[in-house]
Amino acid sequence: MGVAPHRLLGFAFANADLLLEIASDGQIAFAIGASEALSGSQETALVGRAWRDFIDPRDRAMVQALLDGLTEGKRAGPLVVSLASNGRGERAAAMSTFRLPANDGAISCTFSRAQPSQSHGLHDRSGLEAVTAALFETSKATGLELELALVEMGGLPALRKAIGPEAVSALEQRLAGVLRAQSHGGGAAADLGGDRYALVRHTGETGEVLAKRLLQLLAIDPVHGVEANAKTLALKGDVSPSQLIRAIRYSLDSFIKDGMKAEGPDTLNEAVSRSVRRTLVDVGALGQAVADRSFRLVYQPVVDLKKNGGLHHHEVLVRFGDNASPFPMIRMAEELDLIEPLDLAVVERTLAKLVEDPSLHLAANISGRSIVSSSFVEAVRTMLADNPKAEGRLLFELTESAAIEDLALADRHLQALRAEGILICLDDFGAGAASLAYLQQLSLDIVKIDGRYIRELQHGGRESTFIRHLVSMCGELGVKTLAEMVETPQAEEAVRRAGVDYAQGWLYGAPNDVPMGPLSATVTNAVRPGRRVGAVDSWG
Ligand code: C2E
Ligand code: MG
Ligand code: MG
Repeated sequence: MGVAPHRLLGFAFANADLLLEIASDGQIAFAIGASEALSGSQETALVGRAWRDFIDPRDRAMVQALLDGLTEGKRAGPLVVSLASNGRGERAAAMSTFRLPANDGAISCTFSRAQPSQSHGLHDRSGLEAVTAALFETSKATGLELELALVEMGGLPALRKAIGPEAVSALEQRLAGVLRAQSHGGGAAADLGGDRYALVRHTGETGEVLAKRLLQLLAIDPVHGVEANAKTLALKGDVSPSQLIRAIRYSLDSFIKDGMKAEGPDTLNEAVSRSVRRTLVDVGALGQAVADRSFRLVYQPVVDLKKNGGLHHHEVLVRFGDNASPFPMIRMAEELDLIEPLDLAVVERTLAKLVEDPSLHLAANISGRSIVSSSFVEAVRTMLADNPKAEGRLLFELTESAAIEDLALADRHLQALRAEGILICLDDFGAGAASLAYLQQLSLDIVKIDGRYIRELQHGGRESTFIRHLVSMCGELGVKTLAEMVETPQAEEAVRRAGVDYAQGWLYGAPNDVPMGPLSATVTNAVRPGRRVGAVDSWG
């Protein structure tokens, strides 16, 4: 072709800071460019090393899936990957790969400097909603065509049960890597629970092709009968950011509920109009439920790890009709400013329960939206005055699903409530961006560490360091700590070792219609999973 090598290099560096070639044995065969600046290693030091050493351990499964999924003559990426830091600060690069047919199976990779991603795993659904909204905005400016792919992996839950905990943990890592590698930039895939996943990626391929590739990359022994199915929703249409969020939420809800069977919307505009219809129906149902108190409360035990695992109190969770999570309804109520009457109705019922059973201590969830409302605080004080028998046995969990804008006002209200004898717990610490500010500026008695950190503990991540530091920081502030979603004895052992005061989760009991008390303990423990909880201990 007569093109000089230096000319080709010029083209390559027009778009990249570092070029690497990975040989078929996984070793770096060639490196040129800003290697020192990106990775802290000289180019010459990279050659002969395994590519894995060059990539941050948290992103290796994703890069592996990127390399495994390469088709000859087709570019893959870019994915934003963090590079092994060698003790320096975090560095990241957008990595693209290409395999030339005539190059002995070697893979050419380019890296260009990028902002590190916030997450190195799968998002939860609200994380995916946020990422999708942000990508949608960018796509409008850049003309990028994106779609939401919904993936069902039939047989996966059964496989998890059939293999040991170590194999499960390896499988989850591979799965996360494979799904991330298919998503835009490697940062737009989510775990929706059970066998359901979702990701945002570029359009241009059918769901079937994606499903087939996922299965191939996962390389699960066919005897396990795991299957993959995927369908897609193109993210194009003239919709506002809030319409988009509702439409995504609608699509995810119906997929989580009914899987591939769901008659999901075919276009974004249809998803928008369906979500509007659903919101109207839900608003009516919520108003009705609050007006005629046709909701139920369920109770989940919280134990005191410092007192032999004795029962400390119960968290009160609301249920509308069936046993499904109230979360979508709560979030809608918050967005449409309908949460205060619901929170008040729950407090009213909780106080009645406390009066009915003097052995109980109960924690009610209160939205960040309600806590900044003076009428809410006034109404609670009136109810307390009307129910003196409940005094000193009520706790509020301040949820973070709605951000609190005026922290000073919220704190004045919290102080007024604490003066009435209500203990204040900050829920879901670490889930939202504002947790530290809340801890700093709000008067709290207890901090509840978000369940994601507790569940990750079992996979031996960095979470245990995070929890230990949080516990010692709370200790200095005179605030107790509570770990939620403690599902296994291993998780309990880990949070106990970290010095956490209280624990809650399936290990001790799922939310139940009947609180677990000294009288009902035998009965309720017999009919649900979880371990026996000791008698009520003192409060505080
Ligand atoms: P939350 O306050 O963080 O409640 C904990 C959630 O985790 C509950 O879900 C509970 O059923 C679930 N859970 C408990 N133990 C485990 C476990 O070991 N593993 C797992 N995977 N999950 C566990 P639920 O009942 O669906 O509630 C969801 C959210 O809805 C609550 O999160 C809270 O933010 C909100 N919520 C519930 N009831 C009320 C209420 O009356 N008022 C307000 N404002 N929000 C509420
Ligand atoms: Mg809570
Ligand atoms: Mg929570």
